[in-house]
Amino acid sequence: MAKIIAKNPAETEFHQAVLEVAETLIPFIEENPKYKTTKILERIAEPERVILFRVPWLDDKGEPQVNRGFRIEMNSAIGPYKGGMRFHPTVNLGILKFLAFEQVFKNSLTTLPMGGGKGGSDFDPKGKSDNEVMKFCYSFMNELFRHIGANTDIPAGDIGVGGREIGFMFGQYKKLRNEFTGVFTGKGIDWGGSLIRPEATGYGQVYFAEEMLKTRGMDFKGKICTVSGSGNVAQYATQKATELGGKVVTLSDSQGYIHDPKGIDGEKLAFVMDLKNVKRERIKEYCDKYPEAQFFPGMRPWDVKCDIALPSATENEVNGEEAELLIKNGCFCVSEGANMPSTPEAIEVYINKKILYGPGKAANAGGVATSGLEMSQNSMRLSWTREEVDSKLHEIMINIHKACVKFGTESDGFINYVKGANIGGFVKVADAMLAQGLV
Ligand code: NAP
Repeated sequence: MAKIIAKNPAETEFHQAVLEVAETLIPFIEENPKYKTTKILERIAEPERVILFRVPWLDDKGEPQVNRGFRIEMNSAIGPYKGGMRFHPTVNLGILKFLAFEQVFKNSLTTLPMGGGKGGSDFDPKGKSDNEVMKFCYSFMNELFRHIGANTDIPAGDIGVGGREIGFMFGQYKKLRNEFTGVFTGKGIDWGGSLIRPEATGYGQVYFAEEMLKTRGMDFKGKICTVSGSGNVAQYATQKATELGGKVVTLSDSQGYIHDPKGIDGEKLAFVMDLKNVKRERIKEYCDKYPEAQFFPGMRPWDVKCDIALPSATENEVNGEEAELLIKNGCFCVSEGANMPSTPEAIEVYINKKILYGPGKAANAGGVATSGLEMSQNSMRLSWTREEVDSKLHEIMINIHKACVKFGTESDGFINYVKGANIGGFVKVADAMLAQGLV
């Protein structure tokens, strides 16, 4: 860790992600010296390639703007680089390296042949016109197109990158390369996208929680759920948790959270989807439409009493105190849709209290798994039905859960899903790296 910190100064999220993996992997590596003598852990923490570039564009007033573009090509031992693009003002090298590092283990856990990558920009699509977003995406792709490809590196969406942004970037890639290939996932359904891809991360997060609950003879029926975020992942986690009999009582965005004690049912969720995806407004407007709900400005929803928490907004959004509060209020299951939403202190609380805790790299792997299914459909030039994709997604989540149980069950029977996900994701990538030598 001292070497990692010295070599990557100021990249605190990256240090945090590597430490979390190293803590659970080192005892395993000690027991399996072939990984130690070959320095696999040191090699896996070094990106294969980092691409950093200027993105100039003209805003609607005719003024030049400049942003920074990134793509981290972290590991291609088991397949082409694969991972989303994030457009958010907080984006920097350390955040994207943490996400790319996590992605390597997550993609391996899906059992599909995908390496790990991540990218994005400090561009903020919020408050920009469609025209400005399009101009930015074109300029971004004018550089990125030379580094990616259907067999090299396949980006997708993440925070701030949805169907609109993917459409503009894919369109410009197609124009520059003069080829129609599966270079992006999360595409529109009429131009190479897969059914269930928009739903996949949230659905998968809930399927993973369902498997965790089964280990204690429980299910979603009648359970109170708190969800953070109100974007892609939060919306479909809410939909699936409700479908399975749970009652979702919160949603949030960067300005605060709403609490609806009556539950966010299908009709209310349709309102949220229109509010966030079409009107691109703030979640507090929910309370104008549904006066039974209350808005808590600048707060996160973890002080609301719940059985199951589904963090689905961003990294480090549950701290140690909030984790204590969740458990004190009766929460016994946390399934992460966001990447690294719990701080190391919060994770320590979950593990010490032995609650069901599914870390993001396992619980939110359904999104990239379905991206893998989109790539397969693109290669075969055919489309599977909703039912086919959903059943494959469900099966993958069940198998990820099984891998976590296999590698994470401790002597007293407690399933440490952090350990299970880290070791389960590591072995396949490490063995492939050993087989390919020092490349
Ligand atoms: P999204 O559609 O852009 O939604 C993000 C949500 O989180 C919004 O409600 C946003 O609120 C909120 N948020 C973002 N940054 C925040 C901050 N700093 N503080 C508080 N709230 C914040 O993005 P998404 O695709 O749902 O992604 C959510 C999380 O899931 C991320 O951690 C992402 O890496 C992870 N994830 C996504 C996928 C996928 O397939 N999309 C797959 C795996 C993991 P505002 O509107 O106010 O910004």
